Amino acid sequence: MYSKIILKPGKEASLLRFHPWVFSGAIAGLAEPSAGPVQEGDKVLVMSHQGQVLGVGHAQAGSIAVRMLSFSDEPVDLSFYGKRIGQALRLRETLGLFRKGNDTFRLVHGEGDFLPGLIVDVYKDTAVLQAHSAGMHLDRELLAQALLQQCGHFLKRVYYKSENTLPHKESLGAIDGYIAGKAPARKPVACENGLKFHPDWEEGQKTGFFIDQRENRALVERYARGKRVLNMFCYTGGFSLYALRGGALEVDSVDSSAKAVALTEANVRLNFGTSAPHRALEAEAFGFLRSADETYDLMILDPPAFAKHQRVLPQALQGYRKLNALALKKIAPNGVLFTFSCSQAVSREDFRLSVVSAAVQSGRKVRILHQLCQPADHPVNIFHPEGEYLKGLVLFVE
Ligand code: SAH
Repeated sequence: MYSKIILKPGKEASLLRFHPWVFSGAIAGLAEPSAGPVQEGDKVLVMSHQGQVLGVGHAQAGSIAVRMLSFSDEPVDLSFYGKRIGQALRLRETLGLFRKGNDTFRLVHGEGDFLPGLIVDVYKDTAVLQAHSAGMHLDRELLAQALLQQCGHFLKRVYYKSENTLPHKESLGAIDGYIAGKAPARKPVACENGLKFHPDWEEGQKTGFFIDQRENRALVERYARGKRVLNMFCYTGGFSLYALRGGALEVDSVDSSAKAVALTEANVRLNFGTSAPHRALEAEAFGFLRSADETYDLMILDPPAFAKHQRVLPQALQGYRKLNALALKKIAPNGVLFTFSCSQAVSREDFRLSVVSAAVQSGRKVRILHQLCQPADHPVNIFHPEGEYLKGLVLFVE
């Protein structure tokens, strides 16, 4: 039996609309008799002030006090997780993500798959599980078991990677590593839209690869023929691989991290050998754009999140403006600029406004060709618009 949390009067409204978070200010207290004080990560039954059952969630310290897992009174156990993961899997099948040449996708996208606090990315036969809440951390073994039950026909191992995402990890003692199966014997290779890459879940950023740019990379491929391409903030070189396959004249991949440059080089070699018209350069973006002599016809700007919190929003918007102004000044006449923001705190409108300011500043004539977002394996729960984070614009610059 889970401890019962009672909300203040009227605070049940958002849960009745299926918003999956309970804020700490909405809680009146614990119902008696309770199973004892609530610990971070415990499952709790959330009740309205009138005693109506609203559902079950994971308790968390901080302003989001409960993340709802279910909107009814049901046990959150192996069978519960199996059911949710099974639904997530069927959605990815519907999306056509299992096909020849593609074995990389996001299987569970937190609130978007009704599993708040949980991310699961799949690289061929490996699932990388990332917890963003204490509750998911405590349930990791159960989740690995549910994953293997549902996806045993293609999964061999589950790697747990939460060092950088778990709040209060000191007290939880999070340790990254394999929680099902063993490390692969050889350096793993996964495929996205027929292009190969080495996912590095042990050392890499996020779960090892940025799966969320798959469709946007495919769009770059369509624009690349005969173009001089700059892939700024290249990380593993995802966009560069598509540009090369699309027939780019030359591609420069730039990142300030030496590790990212090496990963990009390895991925280019894996697909195109050593004679591809490609250079990987270790450089800081703003400095590079200010001083580069090269001109580019096609540029991609996919920086890390400039705003991790709402309170740094003004600086972040300035950052996007400056970066885009530099690129708009640099790009060749009739150039195409792909520009992105992955900051959840930056709205689509704010991002667009900072790009408009950059366009004004550059003095160039600019048109919007495409408005981009995260792909369908990163679904947004319609009751949880906070789940929308990736936005992009494709600009035609005269
Ligand atoms: N476009 C990539 C993901 C980019 S992640 C993809 O498709 O996979 C952001 C990258 O920006 C990281 O690799 C990080 O090392 C790099 N980075 C961060 N700050 C930078 C800076 N000031 N200049 C250049 N690269 C930077």
